[in-house]
Amino acid sequence: MIKGRFLMVGAGLSGAVIGRELAEQGHEVTILDSRNHIGGNCHTARDAETGVMVHVYGPHIFHTDDEGVWDYVNRYARFMPYKNRVKTTSQGQVFSLPVNLHTINQFFGRTMRPDEAHAFITEEQADTSIADPQSFEEQAMRFVGRELYEAFFKGYTIKQWGCHPSELPASILKRLPVRFNYDDNYFFHRFQGMPENGYTEMIAGILDHPLITVKLNTLFDRSMGDDYDHVFYSGPLDGYFGYELGRLGYRTLDFERFTYDGDYQGCAVMNYGEEHVPYTRITEHKHFSPWETHESSICYREFSRAAGPDDIPYYPIRQVKEKELLREYVELARKTRKVTFVGRLGTYRYLDMDVTIREALDIAEFALTAWSEGKEMQPFFVPVL
Ligand code: FAD
Ligand code: UDP
Repeated sequence: MIKGRFLMVGAGLSGAVIGRELAEQGHEVTILDSRNHIGGNCHTARDAETGVMVHVYGPHIFHTDDEGVWDYVNRYARFMPYKNRVKTTSQGQVFSLPVNLHTINQFFGRTMRPDEAHAFITEEQADTSIADPQSFEEQAMRFVGRELYEAFFKGYTIKQWGCHPSELPASILKRLPVRFNYDDNYFFHRFQGMPENGYTEMIAGILDHPLITVKLNTLFDRSMGDDYDHVFYSGPLDGYFGYELGRLGYRTLDFERFTYDGDYQGCAVMNYGEEHVPYTRITEHKHFSPWETHESSICYREFSRAAGPDDIPYYPIRQVKEKELLREYVELARKTRKVTFVGRLGTYRYLDMDVTIREALDIAEFALTAWSEGKEMQPFFVPVL
């Protein structure tokens, strides 16, 4: 079979995984990234002074139900056991998240058993007149009721998304469970863990192949694609088209870094549920590596705001206005030959790491089959709405 030459735009998980799969089949792969490091937003780096492994673009916890993806990541990193246990500060107290029996009993000053708490929330707190919650606010009112909503979700969500929860879809809150037991694991997937030496080392392992060349500090421009058989583009979808129809909206994050001598907050992530505290959460990075010992600590206060043209895009907003524009860009993308739009920016979706890897593996498989049959290598993965 004739071997191809492929260009990956972006050395994050999407570009790395697709590139590796193609290289494994003997194709020549160039991966470029405008940043000065690999790993995309999953990038981790040890702080030179304290030795703490820092999640540079915000906290990343690996969790999945996909055994194939779990096997894949374990080929490139040793995963250490890690359970994400999040706390939240509200009304002068610290509570456990996601909302569980401890949260409910502490908040209402009670000692209810599971069935009592369930009856209490559904009969005395939840607004059962809302049959089919559409907005974030309705979803919260329907499942936990006004008091818990106002303490833990309303202020946090206004800060995180910059709009009122009544303007956001219910799906955002549906990501979080409500539990009537003392299980405080933030995620409910079968596999959960943290790569022993960070995500960047894991991604370096994926990229370590003789047919892969990585070029950092290199901004993609469309003419570069002419030298390759096909481009896999994990940059922003609207950016590929020079923002000709306007910009898709994103939230960006500002991290205010500070150090502390000792243990600052006793856990990795402390949320702040109230609107008057300007940041959404504080991350204390050394707690992501509980198997390591560090005297000093590195913390990030995290602030969310609308992304401007020069900011890093983090969370796609995906409200009505953005979805209309997205539909137009998707039409342009469909007409674009020899380019596949991939990953969280290329498809304008919030994607967890495991979903990113699964899609990358599926895209590579599709592309390789198409190549071997002499067909077009262009699957399109954006479920628009
Ligand atoms: P990215 O990581 O964004 O990589 C894209 C790369 O393309 C970047 O390196 C960028 O520099 C490069 N690029 C873009 N445009 C160009 C261009 N024109 N030229 C050259 N290079 C370009 N997932 C989880 O599973 N668990 C978590 O706990 C979790 N926490 C998260 C927390 C935050 C704050 C955020 C925002 C995301 C989180 N995620 C988490 C999701 C995770 O970050 C993504 O799944 C992952 O980063 C997607 O990888 P990607 O390669 O598609 O995109
Ligand atoms: N959320 C909240 N309070 C919290 C944690 C989460 O109101 O303490 C809301 C917030 O709107 C967030 C959504 O629930 O976007 C989903 O939570 P998740 O932890 O999945 O947030 P993300 O990964 O989007 O940061």
